Amino acid sequence: VNHLVYPLTGMAGQWAGFQRSITALERIVNVLEEKPTCEKLPSHVAVHQIHTPIHLQNISFGYSEDDLLFQQFHLHAPAGKVTALVGPSGAGKSTIFNLLQGFYSPAKGYISIAGRSIGDYSISELRCSIAHVPQETFLFAGTIRDNLQIARPDVTEEEMEAAAKQAYIHDFILTLPNGYDTHIGERGLKLSGGERQRIAIARAILKDAPILLLDEPTSALDSETEHSVREALKTLMKDRTTIIIAHRLSTIQHADVIFVMDQGRIVQQGTHEQLLIEPGLYQRLCSKQFQADQLPELTLMTT
Ligand code: ATP
Repeated sequence: VNHLVYPLTGMAGQWAGFQRSITALERIVNVLEEKPTCEKLPSHVAVHQIHTPIHLQNISFGYSEDDLLFQQFHLHAPAGKVTALVGPSGAGKSTIFNLLQGFYSPAKGYISIAGRSIGDYSISELRCSIAHVPQETFLFAGTIRDNLQIARPDVTEEEMEAAAKQAYIHDFILTLPNGYDTHIGERGLKLSGGERQRIAIARAILKDAPILLLDEPTSALDSETEHSVREALKTLMKDRTTIIIAHRLSTIQHADVIFVMDQGRIVQQGTHEQLLIEPGLYQRLCSKQFQADQLPELTLMTT
């Protein structure tokens, strides 16, 4: 009997996992299918560049009902400031981004943006209010121009170039055989990690959303590229409500508030200086870091 039961229970588990994945996929497809009209964010939308605080209050959430990642979870990201999330893998950092973008809804609790419940925003309002720069930038097969215009189809040539300059990628684009019309992606030119990131930053500058969700890459870049990416990010974050999943010490040092997360909980919060003198996970993450390497750009060990 056991020969039969074990494979069957295994299959049942896989089936439940499969169903969860389908549900998640359906949500994502629904979100993606709704066309954003970012050129004209409705005037009643209460988001403004520097008045857009984000609150997560009393959140319960799990990817499956019987395994809650967050319970009575609170987080406040102040308007126009930089909030950094740090913590080991699986702490729940990306899940916060998933909730804010409406990919998932909490089982309990309240999320508000600019004082208004996230449920009261249409998907297109949400998408237009938030620029997300992921760890791995997705560039589709097409020209650099196509890849930038996706952020805002009505963009003018001047605006596009200004954004590329602010993202420290314009000069590089001019060195390419066809400038902004150079084909990239599968059959076109392959771009380095740093170049892709700066294209993503230019896209976010063009989008000009009041909220920025930034998933800082863990991969080390050469120090010159690192410097350009950091300068580009500084421009991008100015006056926006930024939440950054941070891996680099230099980023964390400049954050206005740091939340240290572990297994779905916030275990510490404060500025870098405050947290450095407080015994706890933050100190351990930092000391691991300092021992770990002497790279030009120090990377917090979060895995
Ligand atoms: P990392 O630094 O590795 O990206 P993180 O702090 O961002 O980690 P999350 O990605 O938010 O952590 O994951 C939190 C927990 O939720 C983990 O246990 C993860 O396995 C689980 N999880 C994340 N996404 C999903 C999903 N789509 N379906 C099921 N479980 C998920």
